[in-house]
Amino acid sequence: MLVQLTDLRPSPMLATVDFDRDGIQHGFLRMPYSRDDSAWGSVVIPISVVKNGDGPTALLTGGNHGDEYEGPLALFDLAATVAAEDVSGRLIIIPAMNQPAFAAGTRTSPIDRGNLNRSFPGRPDGTVTEKIADYFQRILLPMADVVLDFHSGGKTLDFLPFCAAHILPGVEAATRTQEARAFELVEAFGAPWSVRMLEIDAIGMYDTAAEEMGKVFVTTELGGGGTATARTVRIAREGLRNVLTACGILPGEVPKAKTRWLDMPDADCFVFAEDGGLVEFKADLGDRVTKGEAIARLWPTGRTGVAPTVLPAQRSGILTARHVPGIVKPGDCVAVVGVEVGGAEDMEGPGPRELEGIVP
Ligand code: CA
Repeated sequence: MLVQLTDLRPSPMLATVDFDRDGIQHGFLRMPYSRDDSAWGSVVIPISVVKNGDGPTALLTGGNHGDEYEGPLALFDLAATVAAEDVSGRLIIIPAMNQPAFAAGTRTSPIDRGNLNRSFPGRPDGTVTEKIADYFQRILLPMADVVLDFHSGGKTLDFLPFCAAHILPGVEAATRTQEARAFELVEAFGAPWSVRMLEIDAIGMYDTAAEEMGKVFVTTELGGGGTATARTVRIAREGLRNVLTACGILPGEVPKAKTRWLDMPDADCFVFAEDGGLVEFKADLGDRVTKGEAIARLWPTGRTGVAPTVLPAQRSGILTARHVPGIVKPGDCVAVVGVEVGGAEDMEGPGPRELEGIVP
């Protein structure tokens, strides 16, 4: 997509931090948001910038979806504890990217229902969510060498804790290097699981915006259910430090990874519900499932004496994600099956990075 940047007006977002100044600054990204309860009000997004001399820039984000908590917890912690003298380069830390959604504890923004991760490249004269996307697209992403965007399952999904990167389209040497570097950082993150991730809906994603700009982009899914556990927060915090160490921004050695790799080769990894019902899982996260066997059963709830619908695994593998609330609606993603592989290098060659026609 060709965006004529020169045709766009400046972002209405103002930063209270100076991205070029050495030292630690804690400030805000502030954007006017006039509304009933605050005529000259603002959307205010906390940001920390930590810079020390020359070196790479890591753009570190959480709260892209407002009901996912491992990333914000790891990033608020990093901003509060990191010492500028330990940094070589620059950290840009934004724990709550879509701050209105984060404040409301919802995936999308309560202001405009905007899903920030489907709003890129955004617009400077668009909705509040589109204005946030535009600021990342035109101001923040161009400053970054490496982007780590934390996700979890939110209120409606739960994941095995993993770090992930995407297969990138294109055979150019620069793209192959970009992709290889991303998988190196996934390995360095050292989550219990690492995934070569397939997106079911890549259009408008922050991931795609960063990757199309040539940035090394790494993401996570660290749990879900609208909360965070002690274990998943620890994984986020350690993984964050490991990635920054692997980039040479923080000192030290990256611990030897004990991660297990999963591939998501095609659309058969995803199990969608065609009917609504009360879900009964036949496997838990991390369990092995066999093609053709029931992953879950859906009980009709409108009457008694009716048999449940069986949802079989479309392929054998590891149950990697599952739906969270007990009631499933038609079209919901009920389960994701990952295929265990030896490492990123063992996986099948470049495939389609978007799945078409599988979302009901
Ligand atoms: Ca998410």
